[in-house]
Amino acid sequence: MSKKSKKKLKKKERLALLKADTRKVSKTAKKAKTKNLAARNGHAEAKPKKGKLVYFFGEGRSDGDGKMKALLGGKGANLAEMTRIGLPVPPGFTITTEVCTWFNAHGKALPKEIDAQVTESIHRIEKILGKGFGSLGNPLLFAVRSGSRDSMPGMMDTILNLGLNDETVLGLVAVSANERFAFDCYRRFIQMYGDVVMGVQTRPGEHHEPFEVVISGLKSEIFPNRPLKDISDTELDASSLRELVIRFKKLIRDRTGRDFPSDPHEQLRGAIGAVFGSWNNERAIVYRQKYNIPNEWGTAVNVQAMVFGNTGNESCSGVAFTRDPATGEKVFYGEYLINAQGEDVVAGVRTPDPVATLQEKMPKAYRELEDVRASLEKHFHEMQDFEFTVENGKLFMLQTRNGKRTGVAAVRIAVEMVKEKLIDWKQAVARVPADQLSQLLTPIFDRKAIKHAEKIATGLPAGPGAATGRIYFNANEAELESVKGKVLLVREETSPEDIRGMLAAEGILTARGGVSSHAALVARQMGKVCVCGANALHIDYQNGTLSVGGRVFRKGEFLSIDGTSGEVYAGEVKTAPSEIVQVLIGKTLDAKESPTYGNFAQLMGWADKLRRLQIRTNADQPDQVANAVAFGAQGVGLCRTEHMFFEGDRIDAMREMILADTKEAREAAVAKLLPHQRSDFAGIFRALNGLPATIRFLDPPLHEFLPQTHDQQTELARKLGVPVEKVTRRVSELHEFNPMLGFRGCRLGILYPEISAMQARAIFEAAIEVQKEGIKVKPEIMIPLVGFLKELELQAQLVRDVAAKVSKENNTRLHYLVGTMIEIPRACVTADEIAKEAEFFSFGTNDLTQTTLGMSRDDSGSFLPAYQGLEIIKQNPFATIDANGVGSLMKLAIERGRKTRPDIKLGICGEHGGEPASVNLCHNLGLTYVSCSPFRVPIARLAAAQAALAGAA
Ligand code: ADP
Ligand code: MG
Ligand code: MG
Repeated sequence: MSKKSKKKLKKKERLALLKADTRKVSKTAKKAKTKNLAARNGHAEAKPKKGKLVYFFGEGRSDGDGKMKALLGGKGANLAEMTRIGLPVPPGFTITTEVCTWFNAHGKALPKEIDAQVTESIHRIEKILGKGFGSLGNPLLFAVRSGSRDSMPGMMDTILNLGLNDETVLGLVAVSANERFAFDCYRRFIQMYGDVVMGVQTRPGEHHEPFEVVISGLKSEIFPNRPLKDISDTELDASSLRELVIRFKKLIRDRTGRDFPSDPHEQLRGAIGAVFGSWNNERAIVYRQKYNIPNEWGTAVNVQAMVFGNTGNESCSGVAFTRDPATGEKVFYGEYLINAQGEDVVAGVRTPDPVATLQEKMPKAYRELEDVRASLEKHFHEMQDFEFTVENGKLFMLQTRNGKRTGVAAVRIAVEMVKEKLIDWKQAVARVPADQLSQLLTPIFDRKAIKHAEKIATGLPAGPGAATGRIYFNANEAELESVKGKVLLVREETSPEDIRGMLAAEGILTARGGVSSHAALVARQMGKVCVCGANALHIDYQNGTLSVGGRVFRKGEFLSIDGTSGEVYAGEVKTAPSEIVQVLIGKTLDAKESPTYGNFAQLMGWADKLRRLQIRTNADQPDQVANAVAFGAQGVGLCRTEHMFFEGDRIDAMREMILADTKEAREAAVAKLLPHQRSDFAGIFRALNGLPATIRFLDPPLHEFLPQTHDQQTELARKLGVPVEKVTRRVSELHEFNPMLGFRGCRLGILYPEISAMQARAIFEAAIEVQKEGIKVKPEIMIPLVGFLKELELQAQLVRDVAAKVSKENNTRLHYLVGTMIEIPRACVTADEIAKEAEFFSFGTNDLTQTTLGMSRDDSGSFLPAYQGLEIIKQNPFATIDANGVGSLMKLAIERGRKTRPDIKLGICGEHGGEPASVNLCHNLGLTYVSCSPFRVPIARLAAAQAALAGAA
């Protein structure tokens, strides 16, 4: 609905619309209520009671609580909860997420009945504090804050000091007896309001925020002889700040043609609308896509009485974590700025001090903070990330939430909290996001290489791990260049506009900002390597250079950063595997010497006790298999035999086989491949040491194996001793319009049975060879791309014939299974027939997704992002199984397959097998195992345990 037509609606109609909408959003919540009412009144159809749109909190009492995150957002729910448990929270109220949904569905209009509820809440706050909103004597000021269900750090906008104008500011001067403070509040308010509500923002081509440009301008007028970066905001005195107010207002008028609004109520309406509207700004949308946050959730708006960290040196604003979010160590971690308002700390305008130093500067407030730290963990049973302000020595709590942390920290905190009896071991398993385990496996710098590396600066360690890449100074460029190779995003400080560049970069390096700056926060969440606040760096955006200690690095040159130590190195430094990889795979580190490994192993041990799914791996070579087994794999779920042919001169025999136009020629080529295959399989069986291996028969994309250029064809013809025309002709005969649906999978083995026969023989001969060494071997032969029972029958018979022959030749018994990959819809639908022959099914969800959705994975890049933007498809179906479509087909196949063969073995071997949401689906479908690439095995183990826990709950 357009804004105009919206305005035309009569009040009554708007009310009706609002009711309809709120009903839709919280259907279940309202259902119970409606039922009761209906029963009491004896009516069949009672109207639900009008929605409560505003929830109050203050003075130890609150309408909501910590569980109401969907309705009040995370921030609102926890402000209510902290109020309840007696923490010092300034009073305020939360406007629900339902209003946001309504707002954005109705041309950005607020429902009328909100006014009365807001007014009532304001009166309550005025009473508690003895101040008046818009009062000239003792003005009440508000913070207007967004807050969605899941925290979206820095994504939404906050407005502080709302309620100030040319008159009320004088009231603030009077009650505070501090003119500088009052005008500092006022200029900040205009700045934030101008940015967030009136849209005065950096324009394309500008490198700095327009308000900051005005501040810099004034600073250089006042202190003409000092370098700008050394002049702190706190050096601006009252009259300078008055001047700033005038210049800010002029800037707004110049840029928007409108005046800054002076009526506090108009300011409040504008601010509430802007917060609701910011739910749909670009950076919020990008963030939601990355973290799969549904658009319909909406944000709440929190309107809260201001407390002031900028009244002088007895005041400060800060953020803190109850434990170190980078390492997980149980230390009080955080930072604060004296004489500042909160945004300064997060925005990295000044580099803040570590929270420990507060002990000396404000001992009383520090003790209170330590108490709060302990009671928060005791109450929430989780590491908390909280925001506080000290106003003239008195502590106020402004926010708390479960702290984002690195994977390393997540594991350590979970394990240590069990030891401290804050949680039990099952909670520990449930709590670590399975995906984050990959961070424990990411590389660190190679010890030798780093000794010789040239350290050029040190910053704060904000996102652990090692990263090396070409430096770029703006997000767009970083994003573009990341396609060509590894990049580091280097910024003075980052802001939410940089999100895309941060996503694309290997690592992030900033010159300013602390460990709770935007860069640090976002990097930790994304699992990016990050060093922030490296003060020695001088970045020149215009010229694209970074200078430090007399050296200059241009954009495009290499730097390396260590997000665990905070160090910055010149050039490209070699990286080495993580401690866990060193313990398990390299065997270069003793398990006892690595606490990180110890925590990891503990958590994995707990997970293994809970999970029902087995975890296998997709691996094609003995060394990959060995790695996967070290990571806990219980077998190979998919060995793709075609990958074995890419190595060395095997490709020639492979090409010879494909190009052969007679059975005899083909058999000759195939015979050359047999010994290679046999030794590969033997290596895999040895690495498995008794665990099962599902080996898929050849499923080559033929065109990938063929020489395409004339030179390659000439070369091959020479090697094969045939005329080049023959090769060229055969290549063009084999050309396919749609290779994905072409001559592949079992079709190949059916038309050329000698290929399948060779593979079967290689597997069985290898099995016998390894069995003789005293190692158990469990081959499971998998026929790909089956859609018809007959296809499988033909291939299975061939396998059994070869097995019988090899058995007899060697005078040994062979144990093996023959099954199929379920990867086209017809196989799912006819699974009852196929199960007559198949001893196992393994869902090949990559192809099953392609064929079910009719979407080529390799070609989907041109439309899939847009589809996700439009929410036609919520998640990339090639990363997370499309539960309703592909998942339903899997369910059908399982039901039908089991009808024929109740004990049929069921697995999945698409890359989905290592993705937590898909693992959960597989658990619920009752599969026997999931299979994924070696480095995702730990993730799958944890995800499988979490699925079992969720199922039991
Ligand atoms: P974000 O979600 O981006 O963290 P917040 O709503 O938490 O945004 O606000 C940002 C900063 O504004 C906080 O760090 C806090 O210091 C400051 N702030 C928020 N509410 C108040 C308040 N009532 N009084 C003083 N400062 C506040
Ligand atoms: Mg903010
Ligand atoms: Mg906050």
